[in-house]
Amino acid sequence: MELLDGKGLANQLKAELAEKVKALLAAGGRAPHLAAVLVGDNPASLSYVRNKVRSCEQSGFRSTLIQKDASVTEAELIEIIKGLNNDPEIDGFIVQLPLPRHINADNITLAIDPKKDVDGFHPVNFGRMAQGLSAYLPATPFGIMKMLERYNISTSGKHCVVLGRSNIVGTPISILMSRRGEPGNATVTLCHSRTKNLEEYTQKADILIVALGIPNFIKPEMIKEGVVIIDVGINRVEDASRKRGYRLVGDVDFENVASRCSYITPVPGGVGPMTVAALLLNTMESYQGKIYSGAS
Ligand code: NAD
Repeated sequence: MELLDGKGLANQLKAELAEKVKALLAAGGRAPHLAAVLVGDNPASLSYVRNKVRSCEQSGFRSTLIQKDASVTEAELIEIIKGLNNDPEIDGFIVQLPLPRHINADNITLAIDPKKDVDGFHPVNFGRMAQGLSAYLPATPFGIMKMLERYNISTSGKHCVVLGRSNIVGTPISILMSRRGEPGNATVTLCHSRTKNLEEYTQKADILIVALGIPNFIKPEMIKEGVVIIDVGINRVEDASRKRGYRLVGDVDFENVASRCSYITPVPGGVGPMTVAALLLNTMESYQGKIYSGAS
């Protein structure tokens, strides 16, 4: 079994970006600039956004954090987004999800200029991705693809089973894995809450991507020997032995499953850091005007 060290790989990608930024500055240019909008005080969101800001610093990017109280209205938030859309100094920005219930997240996503949508959530980017046109890929699936690529894990002709059909992870990764290319060219099965006899699918997977949000869901008897497992889940479980009273676990029962895999991502330290690195890669692509140059 080999551990897919997302943390180490993300650090490497960030160091590569930092080198590029140094060269840009040396040539008299400016640094890429990522902004993040955070609404409310959800502790997990706070920690994700802090991570993103810290990663910008590591890569030599500029970052701007806009924090708003949970009482902010949808109209006010859309005004902030319009400002970011029109600010030539900002290459890309994200609005951290989830948002308070009185704000319609779809309206917020639709208000973001697709050219600055470095989270890759806007339907324009999603559609371009699905058609194989250049697009900002959603950060988590992009991070997973980068990880498979850098670890030289062959996916062509493999059976990839994806658990979970969210718009930000399960559905887009199922599209990317089935698309022509490497990584890609896999035969994909997408499972979700209405799938019957789930184990029949998980047991046949050569590559299993799990994005459910259910702690320790995947047990050893559900997989075949030698499978590659990408565990996207981030779950807080109570742990009185930790100072903060909880620890993070994935959707896979890592302790009992890992020895049966050829490769597996840990939680934490797997997909999470790769998601942040992917966000920075998208911001650099925006800075370079790569995605929306020319007709496609
Ligand atoms: P979600 O919470 O929106 O949806 C969960 C999905 O799981 C749904 O599509 C549902 O159909 C499916 N599901 C639920 N119960 C099931 C069952 N018993 N059998 C089969 N399918 C079932 O999904 P999400 O937003 O993709 O988040 C999933 C997990 O990934 C969460 O733990 C989240 O915190 C984590 N996440 C991690 C990152 C990262 O960077 N590592 C990024 C995004 C999400």
